[in-house]
Amino acid sequence: MADQKRDYYEVLGVAKNASADELKKAYRVLAKKYHPDANPGDKEAEAKFKEASEAYAVLSDDEKRKQYDQFGHAAFSNGGGPGAGGFDFSDIDLGDIFGSFFGGGGGGFDFFGGGGGGRRSSNSPQKGANIHYSLRIKFDEAVKGCKKEITLDMKEECATCHGSGAKAGTNPVTCSKCGGSGQVTYTQQSLFGMVRNVQTCPDCHGTGKIVKDKCPDCRGTGYITRRKTIEVDIPAGIDDGQAIRIRDKGEPGTNGGPRGDLLVEVHVPSHPNFQRDGYDIYSSVPISFTQAALGGDIRISTVDGDVIYTVKPGTQTDSRVRLRGKGMPTLRNKDVRGDHYITFIVQTPASLTKEQKRILEELDETFETRYRAKGNPAEAKPNASQSTSSAAKDEGKGKKGKSSKRKSFVDNIKDIGRDFFE
Ligand SMILES: [Zn+2]
Ligand SMILES: [Zn+2]
Repeated sequence: MADQKRDYYEVLGVAKNASADELKKAYRVLAKKYHPDANPGDKEAEAKFKEASEAYAVLSDDEKRKQYDQFGHAAFSNGGGPGAGGFDFSDIDLGDIFGSFFGGGGGGFDFFGGGGGGRRSSNSPQKGANIHYSLRIKFDEAVKGCKKEITLDMKEECATCHGSGAKAGTNPVTCSKCGGSGQVTYTQQSLFGMVRNVQTCPDCHGTGKIVKDKCPDCRGTGYITRRKTIEVDIPAGIDDGQAIRIRDKGEPGTNGGPRGDLLVEVHVPSHPNFQRDGYDIYSSVPISFTQAALGGDIRISTVDGDVIYTVKPGTQTDSRVRLRGKGMPTLRNKDVRGDHYITFIVQTPASLTKEQKRILEELDETFETRYRAKGNPAEAKPNASQSTSSAAKDEGKGKKGKSSKRKSFVDNIKDIGRDFFE
């Protein structure tokens, strides 16, 4: 199915970072080569032509290209199910592309789903414009998915004039500029020889009619604006900047064409503890130096709530473990999830009671002494600051960051060193 499809960049023979111009050039070459008019009855050429056209349709649209780069072909297959908010980016308007390449009157490309797909006949129905809406949700809502209500002003057909814009008892008159066709035609030299270039009539905006006596309710526009509340289904796993398409909630079409779509761009603020990268989550967890040495159970927060994790004896600071499947749900299937990576930060106590100090000193006596400075403290000082490269690097940070809540083990060692030598 979808996986048999060739990569769109491969189809056009361009690099992943190809510019709009490069895409256009590549497509022109292929379109010319495989164009059905140039290869009558050649099914393979037709298939190639379709393939290239589809690739170009997606990659030439910034928004679709972004989706494709992120999700591959999956972004455009019919998933998500019916109803508002389903993920479906499959409406590629080939009509637009052929309009711009071949002119509306060009050849008969009626194999694109039939209807008004490939060419624009006079007064043909046109899809309305898309509406963009920006929606902010919480991090938790992005994890679990949510339903949101958004309110916006939508244009609807005026009930008084049924969209004609004409006052009751009057009728719009035929546009004199286009003779009622809604389009004006220019002849132009192009890639395929002379083509007729058809454009929307500027006087009647494609309706073919001019309203003389305007409907008082809609002031001749044919539409009235109503405040509407729309429920948006936000899928679990959505990331900041991704958009949800809700069909038929955009601007009304013209000449009976369908409405445009509503594109809800979702904004997710960053979380204080969890850093997201793709579907994976990263966080740091402080553990005491005794836990690090002895091992034991600790409580770790994840997007699912707290879990108990058994730390191995001898755990080093900055060591990382993976909690498989505890990351973000994937958009295609919320049961398939990323991972959660935990970095342990070993905490050294900043102050000790006399008793604790005594126990530690006693413990220290049992250790090897290779870390301990011996002899004259003045001589030991330079060695202490060079003890490890990361400690030296962190020196400046340690000083100015004294107030920072969480110190790394190395910083703490250094602080202790400083207390000793200064
Ligand atoms: Zn009206
Ligand atoms: Zn006109």
